[in-house]
Amino acid sequence: MTPRTGRRKARNRTPAVEGPSRQASGFGKSGSTVLRGWKGLALLGAVLLVVGLGALWFWHREDRPVNIVLITLESVRPDHMACFGGKRVTCPNLDALAKEAMLYDDCHSVTSWTLSAHASLFTGLYPSAHQTRRPHSKLGDSYTTVAEVLSGRGYQCAGVVSGPFLQTQHNLHQGFEYYNDSPSELTQKLAHGDITNPEMERLLRDFVTKRRDKNRPFFLFAYFWDPHYDYIPPAPYNEMFVSPDCEQIDVTRYESSKTVHANITEGHLEYVISQYDGEIYWTDEHLGRFFDLLKAEGLWDNTVIIVMADHGEEFFEHGKKGHKNNLYVESVQVPLIIKYAKGGPQGRDSRLVSFVDIFPTILDLTHTTAAPFPHQGRSLLEASPSPERAIFYELLSLWYRRRPAGLGGAPKVHTRTEQWFAIRQGNDKLIKVIRPDRTELYNVRKDPQEQEDVSGQNSARTQELANKLKQWQELMRAVAVTYGAGGKAELDEKQLERLRSLGYVQ
Ligand SMILES: [Zn+2]
Repeated sequence: MTPRTGRRKARNRTPAVEGPSRQASGFGKSGSTVLRGWKGLALLGAVLLVVGLGALWFWHREDRPVNIVLITLESVRPDHMACFGGKRVTCPNLDALAKEAMLYDDCHSVTSWTLSAHASLFTGLYPSAHQTRRPHSKLGDSYTTVAEVLSGRGYQCAGVVSGPFLQTQHNLHQGFEYYNDSPSELTQKLAHGDITNPEMERLLRDFVTKRRDKNRPFFLFAYFWDPHYDYIPPAPYNEMFVSPDCEQIDVTRYESSKTVHANITEGHLEYVISQYDGEIYWTDEHLGRFFDLLKAEGLWDNTVIIVMADHGEEFFEHGKKGHKNNLYVESVQVPLIIKYAKGGPQGRDSRLVSFVDIFPTILDLTHTTAAPFPHQGRSLLEASPSPERAIFYELLSLWYRRRPAGLGGAPKVHTRTEQWFAIRQGNDKLIKVIRPDRTELYNVRKDPQEQEDVSGQNSARTQELANKLKQWQELMRAVAVTYGAGGKAELDEKQLERLRSLGYVQ
């Protein structure tokens, strides 16, 4: 619970990035195959979208408060979900939700790790603007969060979260009158052993059936941690996707494990992925029961349900595992499903979408569009986006590792720091890495897995996007100085040990 008085809140609308284009990018083998398969349907989809916008306008004008449920899933890739073209049925309940929802096929996080991504989700600002970029960061009180806005609109705002970066020390709970981060305590001793889903479900059920104020609309945020590595799903999910091609391998202490490396056999990699998919299935089952509860309580028709992941996950596509290493497609492309209130749009939307769009979309859904809250995205309900729209990504990749004793004496801490920035406009994505400096350009239409750097053949376009990226960086710095910095989160020893076990802090 957070007091909301006495804080200076920035009220200047910051310059928005341009409107979106309607480009789709593929993702991974199965995802790109499906997206290519949809090429023929893309035109039909665009026509249906235009036709649907008229109906959407009338639907949207109805002045009734809708409930909003925002669910973020840790590290879930869209190409591991059948509704986004994944080859396995890992999430039957989300697949069912997708049938009555709008699916956004080209949605991207702003970064590739949890805290920064959620801060963007809640503020509508890119990481350099909200300044929550390091493992110890704390979102400044001067920022206006979506929960604060909705609270001011008369919403009952509640959050139930698992996982360390959503704990209250990072100050993302601004605006929530009920915020329960206790599920994240469950894994303190077991590092990232995956045991938070049942408690998440219990607390969500508790909110809907007992804590909910039936005289107010609600905004309910839920963050599910369990798909995060280590991938250790309970039985029977640990066997569910183990095919004859799999060779079992130890996946404990995944981040620092020397057993799971870039040169493991195909069979070992298949086994790792089978466990990741099992985690997604295990999480989806809990979501399914939560959706059933909303239906049983008569809340389904008037509740908008937004389901997305905070970022992607790597399986050595660019040599690394996990996330927070880079800004390639496997790390930043995310699923986004929005089930609108009854009568709202359904189908597929191939426009380029960023995390910073969620804040203005929620404002739009709650008829708060005229309020001068700063954000850098655009509402997904807007009808006429610009084809020149660019979206941006950034990552301050800090890693700490304990070097084993024996190599030069006592165990030491090894740090690695890299700064990554990227811009996507149309079919082109430019990535800039600082120290050691390098610039890469990818044509995401021809090369959806971002494997072939074409900056050498396209120097004019490379320079153009590099200039746009530089201008954007300057703009973000200018935005940040209008706010007070958030400072450093005060973490206790247990929380620090947890982050150490993940390699996030020293
Ligand atoms: Zn995450």
